[in-house]
Amino acid sequence: MEDIKMVDLKAQYAKLKPELDAAFSAVMESMEFINGPQVANFARSLENYLQVRHAIPCANGTDALQIALMAFQLPAGAEVIVPSFNYVSGAEVVALLGFKPVFADVLPETFTIDPASVKNVITPATAAIIPVHLFGQGAAMREIMEIAEEHNLFVIEDNAQSLGAEYAHPDGHSSKLGTIGHIGTTSFFPSKPLGGMGDGGAVFTNDDKLAAIIQKIANHGQSEKYKFSTLGVNSRLDTLQAAMLDVKIKYVDEYNAARQEIARFYDNAFAEITAIQAPHRASYSSHVYHQYTITVAPELRDGLKAHLRDNHIPSMVYYPEPLHLQEAYTYLGFTSGDFPNSELLSKSVLSLPMHSELKEDQLTYICQHVLDFVKSHG
Ligand SMILES: *Cc1c(COP(=O)(O)O)cnc(C)c1O
Repeated sequence: MEDIKMVDLKAQYAKLKPELDAAFSAVMESMEFINGPQVANFARSLENYLQVRHAIPCANGTDALQIALMAFQLPAGAEVIVPSFNYVSGAEVVALLGFKPVFADVLPETFTIDPASVKNVITPATAAIIPVHLFGQGAAMREIMEIAEEHNLFVIEDNAQSLGAEYAHPDGHSSKLGTIGHIGTTSFFPSKPLGGMGDGGAVFTNDDKLAAIIQKIANHGQSEKYKFSTLGVNSRLDTLQAAMLDVKIKYVDEYNAARQEIARFYDNAFAEITAIQAPHRASYSSHVYHQYTITVAPELRDGLKAHLRDNHIPSMVYYPEPLHLQEAYTYLGFTSGDFPNSELLSKSVLSLPMHSELKEDQLTYICQHVLDFVKSHG
């Protein structure tokens, strides 16, 4: 059996080597490292793939969120609601721009922002919500868009982890996650569903006016050369990264399907075991399993992780501490007990190895060790 990895970028590269190397060489020959034609080509590929009017590439997924927030030109003192069980980027950019991050709890099954908790924290200063499509599956967008409409709020979908997943609207039609709110963002961090060979990100919108502002903000706020009409940032996707991503975007659906197959294997193995909660599949969203995250009793979690490690099986805790309890955000005044679901999840989640190159013997071995531990500690 080959060594088990959490993500296997090397194997992914090996399969596409001729195509990626040719794209790389083309950029090296042109020397157009900044804003080469590959950047616009990739933006068009992304628009086609997502069926969205505008995709604007930028330097990384955190910048994408920052640029999206800047595009709304919110008033000083604006509050922005973000889930507490999440990566730090959303809360961080809200705070960096001088706005106030307001945390909300997540739902225990999907781990995505709880619409009821969002309603609880809305104030007259609330200006936007950033739902996160966590681990490969969508947040409850219908409810969130209804709340946003009622309170006149902007919605940014953080789709760093779920590129390619589909959301089923109540009327039966479906759209790609990231294209439902006013703005969607993503990251091309190497391990994400569409990963580059370095950093990258993008902002999407169907709104022509917002697209024009986003484009400008990502380029120093320039309206024309050396004319700066608004405050902006320097956030570019490298030509080399765009060239790599324009090759890899053709395989996103294939990678997502391969991970769905692996998720089915895990699901079957854990189906009868009440001590393990396999990832919930929401009725309204497909799941592309950026992570395959199980939950177990908090008193078992760290022991299970250690048992797997002792048997050369990597696993990860995403995320070990909810944001409202992190030192950097204590100034906001949240305390332990404010968001019970986020707090419990941080103690009970465990993400198992998940990537398109996992083999059946590896999966059998992983499942056997998970089950052995859980059964002997039941
Ligand atoms: C990865 C990630 C980001 C940040 O992306 P970077 O490209 O690393 O800046 C933001 N939000 C979520 C949910 C992520 O998983």
